[in-house]
Amino acid sequence: MTIKDKILIVEDEKSISGFIKAILQTNGYDVITASSGGEAFSMISSHCPDLILLDLGLPDMDGMRIIEDVRRWTMLPIIVVSARNYERDKVEALDKGADDFITKPFSAAELLARVRVAIRHMRLGAAGDSVANSGRFTVGGMTVDYGRHQVLIDGENVHLTQNEFKIVALLGKCAGKVLTYDFIMKEIWGPQVRGNNQILRVNMANIRRKIEKNPAEPQYIFTEVGVGYRMAEGD
Ligand code: CA
Repeated sequence: MTIKDKILIVEDEKSISGFIKAILQTNGYDVITASSGGEAFSMISSHCPDLILLDLGLPDMDGMRIIEDVRRWTMLPIIVVSARNYERDKVEALDKGADDFITKPFSAAELLARVRVAIRHMRLGAAGDSVANSGRFTVGGMTVDYGRHQVLIDGENVHLTQNEFKIVALLGKCAGKVLTYDFIMKEIWGPQVRGNNQILRVNMANIRRKIEKNPAEPQYIFTEVGVGYRMAEGD
């Protein structure tokens, strides 16, 4: 018998909570639920969940407080479940240490994929351990070769500039997770970089022209509108 992963759903809307719970239980997860921030804190300390699915709009507190508090003592994965058109919330949640977000309404497949990625990243420890072991990241026809500083499409080097390579390399190390514009900018251009994303967008347009068959419909690097970019999960 395998030990089930235990997921805490923090959500005050019963219908959404019930929907998520049913999907997760059907797919072999143990599920516990909390309908307020206070309840969430006591569940976290008494039940030690493996992952938290967190609604930000709770009756007794802002879900951001839960992210901040949990991040003071554990890397327990947190996926924010948020309504559409709250890009600023998503960015803030990710910058405070949430691992990912799911936008309502969402499909069962999407929810399960995000949960799998977050739990796997936690198991692997620091992001990039799988890359560190193999020196490569591969998804479909694309390979990022970290040792040679090359990105190959169907075996051909696509000749990225240094910054373009750094961006793809960074996204590859965190594949499956969304990285905010601000986070990527600081990693590539340093902490003093200003908040304008233009330079990143130009680089991404050039990257897509080089690696994607159809840059308007990317299959490797996806845009999370108003939030950042996400590399497709590796093979
Ligand atoms: Ca709510």
